[in-house]
Amino acid sequence: SAIVRRFRESNRKSAEHEQRARKVVPGGTSRATMLQKPFPVYLADARGASVWDLDGNERLDFNNNMLAMIHGHGHPEVVAAVKAQLERTSAFTSVSEREAELAETLCGRVASIDKVTFDNSGTEAVMMAIRLARAYTGRTRILRFEGGYHGFYDPVITGSFSNPPVDAPHDPHPPVRDMAGMPPGVTEDAVLVPYNDAEAVRRVFREQGERLAAVIVEPMLGGGGMIPGLPDFLRTIREESAKTGTVMICDEVITLRFATGGAQEVYGLAPDLTTMGKIIGGGYPVGAVGGRAEIMDLCRPADEGGAVMTMGTFNSNPVTVTAGLATLKLLDKAAIDRLNGLGDRLRKGLSDCIEKRQVPARVTGAASCFDIHFTRREINNARDVATDDEALQQVCSLGLANRGILVSKSRKGGLSTVMDEGIIDRAVEAFDDTLTEMTAEGWFDSARH
Ligand code: PLP
Repeated sequence: SAIVRRFRESNRKSAEHEQRARKVVPGGTSRATMLQKPFPVYLADARGASVWDLDGNERLDFNNNMLAMIHGHGHPEVVAAVKAQLERTSAFTSVSEREAELAETLCGRVASIDKVTFDNSGTEAVMMAIRLARAYTGRTRILRFEGGYHGFYDPVITGSFSNPPVDAPHDPHPPVRDMAGMPPGVTEDAVLVPYNDAEAVRRVFREQGERLAAVIVEPMLGGGGMIPGLPDFLRTIREESAKTGTVMICDEVITLRFATGGAQEVYGLAPDLTTMGKIIGGGYPVGAVGGRAEIMDLCRPADEGGAVMTMGTFNSNPVTVTAGLATLKLLDKAAIDRLNGLGDRLRKGLSDCIEKRQVPARVTGAASCFDIHFTRREINNARDVATDDEALQQVCSLGLANRGILVSKSRKGGLSTVMDEGIIDRAVEAFDDTLTEMTAEGWFDSARH
């Protein structure tokens, strides 16, 4: 394929570097699951909406570090705030007063949050939320949804990377084959049902609601394919969990960008706990869990009646907190509305290219998030995503990379506020040209479509 050949030829230094990296890092990078085949581009520089790789290729960044860099790279106001902090220190033993300021900001923005505690990743935030839910309810089972991604903590990772085929019978206890190393009990306590299936939610609560400590759900499946939740599905989760005293955890690590109050504001949802990450750290490692005071207060020190302790050498370190504050200050309603408008423009532009050529592809997403699937099936849950053609996905991301557009292996991404309509239109044009080239190379000819 000329697409693959051109990618290899224009990224020789990345290919060479991969060989070196593979000797000391399994798979050549600690983030191998999300990066392109045949090898990832290794990046050397970034500014605004652009990144540069080792070969000097410039690409527009449509992934923004898995949607963490909502103001693009090196935003002057974020950089100025962080620089001023760095000249003092990056961390000290006691607390920075800005921790409470960031907590106040989040409580002020998200209606369901009374109190917040900070961690260093979304994974840790989910870990804390699950521990809190188990401590609060005295139960152990966790309900989640096929295709959901909540980080790599044991109770939420099994089954995350093996979407069941469309017509597979429903198996509430997910297989561990996609993630070895699980102690006994992990699968027993994990209950999975299809996303966007309100009836399945009712059924599982009817059958075992009293045993469920928590239900964790993304308002839009992010890593699972940027599939927006149906309002009735999310409402059903809230109603059923309230009836059985199950803690509802809304995982807004990606979707907090939907509105100042997160996706829960858009859907009118009031979860018990909310997990956050990515944008609230302004580009630095972060996670946070917030929610009802009654549950969050379990995090108080033991001598104050707390039962779940919070720990972490770098929790709420002043660099992350400073960057997060500067980032959220820039991210007011007007900025989010503008960004969401760019998201609409991108999704419509990409869909129009598909429509025009009648190729087997679908665009999903909401707000400033998007994904491109190669299937004719309408996409409502992870089972539909299982019909995606991986070879087409891969060659499409290489075609986009050849044309100066950076997306992840699965082409999902999120926009940044430093983008404008011209940048969106360049991505749409690159996609159109990629589809032309894929058509010419016969990628859509195969009988399987
Ligand atoms: N939850 C969701 C919805 C995510 O998308 C992610 C990461 O992509 C996580 C949790 C885990 O966050 P982190 O990668 O910071 O551990």
